[in-house]
Parts: sequence; structure tokens; C-alpha cells
Amino acid sequence: MKITDKINARKSTDPFFSFEYFPPKTDDGLSNLYDRLKRMSFLDPLFVSFTWGAGGSTAERTTEMCTTAQGLYGLETCMHLTCTNVGDEIVEEALKEAKNSGIQNILALRGDPPRGQEHWTPSNENFLHAIDLVRFIRKKYGDWFCIGVAGYPEGHPDSDNKAQDLRYLKEKVDAGADFIITQLFYDMDLFVEWEKECRKIGITVPIIPGIMPIQGYNSFRRVTNLCKINIPANISKDLEQIKHDDQAVKDYGVSLAITMITTLYEQHNVKGFHFCTLNLEKSVRLILEKMRFVPTEEERNLRRSSKRRPSIGF
Ligand code: FAD
Repeated sequence: MKITDKINARKSTDPFFSFEYFPPKTDDGLSNLYDRLKRMSFLDPLFVSFTWGAGGSTAERTTEMCTTAQGLYGLETCMHLTCTNVGDEIVEEALKEAKNSGIQNILALRGDPPRGQEHWTPSNENFLHAIDLVRFIRKKYGDWFCIGVAGYPEGHPDSDNKAQDLRYLKEKVDAGADFIITQLFYDMDLFVEWEKECRKIGITVPIIPGIMPIQGYNSFRRVTNLCKINIPANISKDLEQIKHDDQAVKDYGVSLAITMITTLYEQHNVKGFHFCTLNLEKSVRLILEKMRFVPTEEERNLRRSSKRRPSIGF
């Protein structure tokens, strides 16, 4: 089913959430991730998504994971697809396999530079920007796929003109994108202002903020430096004080995500959240339980056992 149809089918005040995973490099890693996926499916995400390795390095695994999540675990799946190092045939093959597996959602991206390369360079003149992928999918498959694209509340790092970056986003939507998932952010004011700008220039499709719970001090610094994400001074200060205590950093990550989601949900009418899970389970589950978006494990078990008990009297 298309993600946009699922969004429209729920009550507009109800929250929804999705989980993003990346393909592990080893078979053991893959088997662990499948176990995690099975457990996390009980949280009932609106969809799950799988990244496409920079340069198609894990392309086969991405398609395999998407097929398994959709077919075996019954999870609505969104396959990321990028323009990095792809010929028309690779794109066609990936889309054909997705369609054959019943996957109706594609996140169309330009892609990161492959490992070891600082700047992104096109390898196929048909795919210079994400918009080319959006157009390709629409041309070949009409309305069969629901297409998502990436948005950048702080502007894309390659672009020094935020207004132009936003116009490019609008062009992606006008070319046929149905929804937007944002780059992760920690400065909520930037997101709220950017979302208003999107609406002002006529972007009407759903915008789903990307949320990455902080899982470790070093990984957080690495990712935010790489993506050039602004870290508000109070968050930097809090983290500096606990950076040598891994559990304290994780706990902080959970409470920060709860504060962000609560503020966006209650004050800014944002109902959907896309979790960048880093293939981890616990923080995301705790956040959803504490937000009361999902029952706790204890409540789930209680419900299960009361369903098993024979009813009396009625
Ligand atoms: P584009 O929309 O093409 O934008 C890239 C740059 O080109 C921007 O500076 C933009 O301003 C400019 N631009 C856009 N359109 C035009 C145009 N028509 N003419 C001239 N300039 C233009 N990377 C991966 O490799 N694999 C993944 O699975 C993956 N998943 C992601 C998921 C999310 C939610 C996000 C936010 C990012 C993801 N990325 C992934 C990273 C992404 O590929 C990079 O951020 C990449 O640098 C830009 O991708 P894009 O699709 O936004 O590109």
C-alpha cells in the first residue's frame, strides 16, 4: 500500500511513525537485524525503510531486506534508491524487483558520495539529481509507486543558498514526489521555520521529520559533523558533561527525542516521525512507550493473556 494512502487512512489527530534501517555488512548482522525487525514489527510502524548503500555497495542486500520485510513480515516497506554509480539497468532492475515484491514506496535520492570520496560526482548523465530519478520512476511506472524525497531543514550541505535549495525541493514534488522525509535535526526552531517556508511556496505533501535518538557520543558527533547539523548550545553543553558515560548519553538521547516529539506533536501539529534507528531497538521502543504511542511490553503481554483467557458469562 502507498505510504500516503496509509497516512490519509488514519485519524488525522493520531500519531504515526516509521523506522529506517541500513543493510548490515555480514550475514550474522543480517540475521540479527531480521530478529530485531520481527520484534519491532509489534510496535506497528506505518512503514519501514532500508537505505541504499552509497554507490550501490549494498544494493542487493537492500532489495533482499525490502522483499523480506514486505513479504515475510508484512511490513509496509519503502526502498531507498540513489543516483550514485547507477546505470539505467540497475535502477530498472531494482524497481522491477520492488514492484514484483509488492513494494509500492520508493525514497528517491541523489545519494551520498561513495566511501573515500569527498564530493559526489555523477556517473550517469541521466541521473544528476534526485529529481531525475523521480521523473524516471513516473515515466516508467506511472502512479504505481508512491515516491518520497529528502528535505533539508538546514539546507543541503552542498548548497549555500537555502531559498534555492527549497525551490529544488518544490521541483522534486512538482515532478511527482508524494511525501518528504527530512534530514535529521536537533534545532527545532529551524525545522518549524523551514516547514512554514515549504508550505508558503506551495509544498502541500506530507513532511515527515527525521528523528535520530542519540545512541553514543562519538557516533552522534560523527553523523552530525558529516551532515553539517546544527547542535543547539544547551544540547552540546549537556552532552559534554556526560560524554564518558555511555548509558547516560543513551538516556539523554531518549529524553531529548521525547521533548522534541512532544513539542512538534503538541505545539506544531506534526503527527508523523521517521526514526533513524541505526539498526537499534531499545531507545526507539522506550521513546514510543513513554510517548504512549504504543503500549508497553507489559501491557502487550497482559492484552495477549487476557485474549487467551476463555470469556465467561457473555
Ligand atoms: P538532490 O535533491 O539531488 O540535492 C542534492 C544537491 O543538489 C542539493 O544541494 C540541491 O540543492 C541541489 N539540487 C537539487 N536539484 C537540483 C537541480 N535540479 N539542479 C541543480 N541543483 C539541484 N544517501 C544514500 O547514499 N543512501 C540512502 O539510502 C540515503 N537515505 C537518505 C534518507 C534521508 C531521509 C535523507 C535526508 C538522506 C538520505 N541519504 C542517503 C543522503 C542523501 O543521498 C544526501 O544527502 C545527498 O547528498 C543528497 O540527496 P538528495 O536526494 O537530497 O539530492
